[in-house]
Amino acid sequence: MANTMTADLHTHSNFSDGTDTPEKLIDAAVAAGLTTIALTDHDTANGWDEIAKHIPAGMRVLPGAEFSTKHPDENGELVSVHLLGYLFDRDNPAIVAEWKRMHDERAQRGARIVGKLIDGGFPITLERVEEIAGSANIGRPHIGKALVEVNAVKDVGEAFVDLLHDGSPYYVPLQSTSLAGGIKLINDAGGVAVIAHPRAREAAAVLTEDVLASLVPLGLAGLEVNHYGHDADARAELSDIATRLGLLQTGSSDYHGTNKKDVHIGMNCTPDDVVEEIIARGAIAPFGPAQ
Ligand code: AMP
Ligand code: FE
Ligand code: FE
Ligand code: ZN
Repeated sequence: MANTMTADLHTHSNFSDGTDTPEKLIDAAVAAGLTTIALTDHDTANGWDEIAKHIPAGMRVLPGAEFSTKHPDENGELVSVHLLGYLFDRDNPAIVAEWKRMHDERAQRGARIVGKLIDGGFPITLERVEEIAGSANIGRPHIGKALVEVNAVKDVGEAFVDLLHDGSPYYVPLQSTSLAGGIKLINDAGGVAVIAHPRAREAAAVLTEDVLASLVPLGLAGLEVNHYGHDADARAELSDIATRLGLLQTGSSDYHGTNKKDVHIGMNCTPDDVVEEIIARGAIAPFGPAQ
């Protein structure tokens, strides 16, 4: 089989902080000429049933999720690391418990960020943010949309630059599980664990080759090498590390619909042989065309 590049293994729907329904996400994937996507909403598998209903012939979907985790830097400060899990058993009790906790944690943390913004004079309300999130766990992009609605910023990207970034006085961190704990959760549920965008944002400094090497025996399977948050040097460095550590190398868009306006589905892809390897290792089969 030719090693084509028609698989995008990191996308978000409106079951987390993307703006497309799973059905629209599939439409966008088809329009971009993709044949495989992974649905990786933050800390939830709630979109899996809905996307399974809308898969046309010639398309398959790897059910997955992006786990929020933390890893300490050299001073012991906890830094956010995103971890992709593919093809795991979502009924695994430890995952169910972690996501129940994360649902409540995201609600409380979202309310605290909104409270700080209101105290800072921004005329948003928690009710409106909850409405924007709908049934999804609350994330900063939902708060960003509320800020756009009151004309505090022009778009969600500007909301992050001005108000929602990790160093902002309005920021409240998520109380997440450890990176090692997340890798264990995914592996215990039969899934495949890949660190998302390891050189984007603040995770870059903590994810040294030594740290990554220490995670391999725990079940780390791969690194997301090709991602819009990585420049050419970062991609080359990660590719070398992955080769030395025997890790899979993926590429993906991290599509969020209109919440990340410069990110297009399929803008980075994963080679077929890597996709097949992930499928071979996963506990469950990819979703195929709806019957
Ligand atoms: P949270 O999970 O609530 O901490 O929010 C983090 C999410 O915000 C990430 O997963 C991205 O979807 C989104 N995000 C981070 N930076 C930006 C940005 N500059 N523009 C738009 N969305 C962003
Ligand atoms: Fe997101
Ligand atoms: Fe991420
Ligand atoms: Zn993502």
